Amino acid sequence: MANSSKEEKKNNVIKVLNQARAMELHAISQYMNQHYNLDDMDFGELAGKVKLIAIDEMRHAEMFAERIKELGGEPTSDLADKVSKGQNVNQIFPFDSTLEDNTIDVYNGYLEVCRQNGDSITMKIFETIIDEEQIHLNYFDNIGGHIKNLGDAYLARIAGTSSATGLGTSGFAVSGNQA
Ligand code: FE
Ligand code: FE
Repeated sequence: MANSSKEEKKNNVIKVLNQARAMELHAISQYMNQHYNLDDMDFGELAGKVKLIAIDEMRHAEMFAERIKELGGEPTSDLADKVSKGQNVNQIFPFDSTLEDNTIDVYNGYLEVCRQNGDSITMKIFETIIDEEQIHLNYFDNIGGHIKNLGDAYLARIAGTSSATGLGTSGFAVSGNQA
């Protein structure tokens, strides 16, 4: 279609925004489930970080919703996938790395859809969020690597640490946790 109407273009962008929002809503529930588990297993520090990342995903879901509303769409409340429950500490971090890696790939595709439909504002939103997903991916890779390479020695060091996050509204990515 060489000359799709303005309305069609807008709807194409709303569609990918809602697919992305559903992925964020899934990530929020997935990471909340994990931080409760990590807290139960007494890995407080890991629980606290995963909680902050869940809060980043909520900001993302809201950023997508605000843009959907601006474009005249209706933000979805569906989750893109089912929450995987009862993961142990060895499973959580590789699982989350895969999730973030996949999200970055998908969002890069959506960025391209925005470009094709002439929406540079939504492109910027995807660019900002992709940067933050990369920060999440780096953290999950880092911790997954420690657990894989150091195993019990690493986990013993984390056991009994505090899960306090000094919770503000800034989540993980924008509060300097990536350093
Ligand atoms: Fe996100
Ligand atoms: Fe993320």
